[in-house]
Amino acid sequence: MINGIMRIGIYGGTFAPPHLGHVRAAEEFFKQMELDLLYIIPTAVPPHKQIDAADDPRHRLAMCELAFGSMPRVIVSDMEIVRGGKSYTVDTLRALAAQDRCLFLLMGTDMMLTLDQWREPEEIFRLCYPVYMRRENDPVIEGQIIAKNSAYLSKYGKIVRRIPMEFVDVSSTAVRERVAMGRSLTDMVPEAVAAYIEKEGLYV
Ligand code: ATP
Repeated sequence: MINGIMRIGIYGGTFAPPHLGHVRAAEEFFKQMELDLLYIIPTAVPPHKQIDAADDPRHRLAMCELAFGSMPRVIVSDMEIVRGGKSYTVDTLRALAAQDRCLFLLMGTDMMLTLDQWREPEEIFRLCYPVYMRRENDPVIEGQIIAKNSAYLSKYGKIVRRIPMEFVDVSSTAVRERVAMGRSLTDMVPEAVAAYIEKEGLYV
């Protein structure tokens, strides 16, 4: 809390499944932005990608509870799943915005580079401070980030600030591929998530 303003973090994603890269990102986000509260919000239908019809949002919500639920001052929210349909970040920001709140929106590099293609980007920039984390160390991307930030600054009056963090080279795609190969998920997802995937027979 700074000057009576609550610092609220928002971390949305498909989380199919949540992995250790997500968990680490959430921890660093919380610490570095000095958040009072962090919302983890699994999407209903992500606007930017196809997900398997069998990939029930309730499973993703349950796995988010297992991955993030024990972190203090973290709320795993079903608001986008309950809202249903395509999940637009701008709607989520509108639902969480309030006068005594400052909203921070976390994303990975891939999302940072496409933020101007989301629905109502100028509203997104108005309602929150977007921040990003590198999830790879490809030097080519550094140049793309700089170019995007200068475009964002002139179009929306803000840049997407970087949260420095050692990147964790894991993706949900890689996790699903591992499951399909029948291999162990050690070092990729929290233990409870691995146990849930096995019990429910997901991604086989
Ligand atoms: P998929 O492999 O299915 O595309 P994903 O691993 O990118 O999934 P998402 O649920 O789509 O996972 O990601 C949610 C958010 O977390 C996005 O903003 C994404 O950029 C970010 N993110 C994903 N993996 C990492 C990682 N290893 N480090 C930092 N951020 C990440």
